[in-house]
Amino acid sequence: MNESPNCVVCTRELWEDELGRYACRPCERRIDDRLAALAGPRGLYARLCLRMEPGSRSMGESVSGSSSPSIPANLQILDLTASGGIVGTLEAWVEDWASQGLATRGTGGRLQHRIDQAIGTLRLNLPRAVERHPAMDEFAREVDGIWRTGSALVDGGREPVKASATCQACGNAFRFGLFDDGADCRSCGQHHTRAMLLQPDASAA
Ligand SMILES: [Zn+2]
Ligand SMILES: [Zn+2]
Repeated sequence: MNESPNCVVCTRELWEDELGRYACRPCERRIDDRLAALAGPRGLYARLCLRMEPGSRSMGESVSGSSSPSIPANLQILDLTASGGIVGTLEAWVEDWASQGLATRGTGGRLQHRIDQAIGTLRLNLPRAVERHPAMDEFAREVDGIWRTGSALVDGGREPVKASATCQACGNAFRFGLFDDGADCRSCGQHHTRAMLLQPDASAA
C-alpha cells in the first residue's frame, strides 16, 4: 500500500478515493491504453514486425555505399521486435508480477503470441497491481517508452528505402526495396537476386 499521498507515476496528489493506490486512475488508464495498443494482430508490435518484412533476413548484410537515414531506424525495429526487445521487457514484468501473485506466466510460442499473452495478463492484473505494486512508476515509464518508440517508428517511419536497378535481361529500369532479398523486373519479369541488384552496373538508372 502506498503510504504517500501522491501518484508514483505523475506525482499528482491522489483523490481521497484513490488513497493507498500507487497510481492514480488516469495513470492506470493510460498504462492500460498503451498496453492495449501494443497487442494483437493490428497492434504496434505486429506493425513493427511488418515494417521489417521481407528484408529481415538480409539485415545482417551491410549495404555498401548507402547512408540512408532509414537504416538505423530499421535496426532499431529489429532490436525492438527480437525476443530480447519488447517481448523480453514485458515478460520480465510478468515474471516480476507473477512472483507477487499478480500475473500468470506465459506458455511460450511465437513472439506475437508471447507479446499477447504477456499483455493479456498484465492488463488483467493492472487494477490490482496499481494498488499493490510499489514499482508502478518504473513499469509505467517502461510501457510509456515502448509505446512512444514504437509509435514513432510505425507512424513517423519512412517508407522502405527504394533504389533503382537496370534489368539484366531487357535493360529497363525498375525499383526495388533496399532490404529485399531479390526483385523481379516490372517489364519482363526477370528475377534478380540481391547480389545482382547490388551490382554497380545493374543500378545505372
Ligand atoms: Zn498519476
Ligand atoms: Zn526486364
